[in-house]
Amino acid sequence: MPEGVYNCRVCKTCGGCQLAHLSYGDQLLYKREEVSGLLSKFAEVEEIVGMAEPLRYRNKVQVSFGMAGERIIYGNYVASTHEIVEVEDCLLCDEVANGIIALIARLAAKYHISIFDEHSYRGCLRHVLVRSSKLNEYMVVLVTGSFTIPHERELIGELRKAFPMIKTVVQSINNRHTSMVLGERQKVLFGRGYIYDELCGLVFKLSAVSFYQVNKSQTEVLYNKALEFAGLRGDETVVDAYCGIGTISLCLAKRAKQVIGVELNRQAIADAVKNMHLNEVENAAFVSDDAGRFMSKMARERCHVDVVVMDPPRSGADKKFMDSVIRLRPEKIVYVSCNPVTLAANLAYFSRYYRVERICPVDMFPYTKHVETVVLMSRVNTLDK
Ligand code: SAH
Repeated sequence: MPEGVYNCRVCKTCGGCQLAHLSYGDQLLYKREEVSGLLSKFAEVEEIVGMAEPLRYRNKVQVSFGMAGERIIYGNYVASTHEIVEVEDCLLCDEVANGIIALIARLAAKYHISIFDEHSYRGCLRHVLVRSSKLNEYMVVLVTGSFTIPHERELIGELRKAFPMIKTVVQSINNRHTSMVLGERQKVLFGRGYIYDELCGLVFKLSAVSFYQVNKSQTEVLYNKALEFAGLRGDETVVDAYCGIGTISLCLAKRAKQVIGVELNRQAIADAVKNMHLNEVENAAFVSDDAGRFMSKMARERCHVDVVVMDPPRSGADKKFMDSVIRLRPEKIVYVSCNPVTLAANLAYFSRYYRVERICPVDMFPYTKHVETVVLMSRVNTLDK
């Protein structure tokens, strides 16, 4: 197993890398054991798919700013406190993004840009988010408590000069008492307001607020596993439930007759539609709705669905969703899960009607405790339906 050189100086206090005490090989064993413990009663758990280079994989870096006396500091909040652990070079994030953030801290000092104070709710710079893509495009989001940024033009000019790969700079205004990083108002300060990424041969447009998988290279591995499990021939109708900005849906569309993506977040659906046009995909449709409500409508109208792909949030799928899927009777269900505990509960619920055929864990978040799992289920032909 390849070993990245993990020599983080703050891993004990930062809290981001819960498995920092283990070698990467041992992390993979640990995660596979965890998944096996919860899921081996359904089917054999396959080898976990790890990363060849398990460091600097994140395409999104987010830090909070604060003051230590007269000094500007930045890093992560210690869980449920207002205390910042300084993280200058996060080993999970790319070096360019870390360099951009370090320069912003220096420029804030140079131009006397105030730092937002979490107690008085006054001040300017609060968080910085940097998004990057495989096409080497970078987006900088300056989250501020104030509406204006002093010396905005000089700040952006110096950033672009040092890092020409910055394609856009966005300001997000957030002066509220919230643990959310981004505010409701985003203002484009430079460039087009979005960057492009490439994934599975498709192009995606990402804005500051778009939900997007954070692992630059392993997302393709995860999606390819889901596609492999779906085993499409080209004549199927597929529902991609909890579809986000339509990444999995558009990959599926290349191999299916039609794909319907459903997702609660309206902004994500608007992004999905844009991405569909951008890639000239004509056999996909996107609906903004609760996945359970949408599926129960489909079941009532006796729609025909061959495959359901589902990628719910950590809480898993609810009863309404699962009952409707059972009524729709797709031949296969491909479940992409970020939480093996709720996955186990959902598989048990499906088990009278669906047999678990394959279970494959994929490591999307090396050094952290998180593990993703892809499961293939096929319909059991019982007489009682
Ligand atoms: N498949 C996508 C997103 C998965 S994250 C990807 O790979 O990028 C889970 C998604 O479920 C989020 O986008 C979230 O907004 C959405 N979601 C949460 N609850 C939902 C619900 N009740 N109905 C539909 N979508 C929901």
